Amino acid sequence: MAELEQGHAPERTLRVCALYPDLMNIYADRGNLLMLERRCSWRGIGFEVAAAGLGEGVDPDAHDLFYLGGGQDRDQRLCALDLVQAKRAALHAAADRGALVLGVCGGYQLLGHRYALGDEEIPGLGLVDLETIRSDGPRLIGNVAIEVDLDGDGTLRTLAGFENHAGRTQLGAGERPLGRVLKGHGNTGSSGAEGIRRDGVIGTYLHGPLLPKNAWFADWLIARALGLRQLAALDDAFEDAAHAEARRAAGV
Ligand code: GLN
Repeated sequence: MAELEQGHAPERTLRVCALYPDLMNIYADRGNLLMLERRCSWRGIGFEVAAAGLGEGVDPDAHDLFYLGGGQDRDQRLCALDLVQAKRAALHAAADRGALVLGVCGGYQLLGHRYALGDEEIPGLGLVDLETIRSDGPRLIGNVAIEVDLDGDGTLRTLAGFENHAGRTQLGAGERPLGRVLKGHGNTGSSGAEGIRRDGVIGTYLHGPLLPKNAWFADWLIARALGLRQLAALDDAFEDAAHAEARRAAGV
């Protein structure tokens, strides 16, 4: 980028807080961060990522996007207890001021009130009104595609990915899903709903990782986080092919 070669600091910087990047990283969900980093740097937008692990607090004002990937029940349990003890108030403050919070699969489940496994209950952040119950039934596994209207203007776009979860997630009556299932299982396997969206708080079961398979969504997050109406176009030949392949795998 010309302005970087001239040694100028980028005008804008996307500041990301990665929550438990080592523990909550199933299906290489951390690749989502790499995708954000690349798409920022290709445009001359700065990118900073700070990790917040077990026992570490977070500054609600220091980041534009808080990210929590997926995890096994065991790792989720560890992180859930820490989230509630060490990070809950800060994440509520961040969401209240409009920061983005993105949770994928196990991370998505922890955005809600609880994840119940038989007699045990893993506490959640309570950022959104949902709860998840681990089912004895089959895991919900496979390629998945959903239709989303992120700007609420009737423009429908597709997110494609891969899901693998034992939990079934029920949204509270006042909540809206992220999207409508086109192919795959989604929140419960039968509701037709996938994920959740309340303002800047977004949860989804889609791994992939999600963003490399859906470059347009990475850009939507960057633009929203930075308050930009439009981002410079990139040569997306590879990204478009990855998206097309993910859709094809899901059968849409
Ligand atoms: N452990 C959770 C479940 O099985 C989430 C799994 C995941 O993140 N892929 O429902």
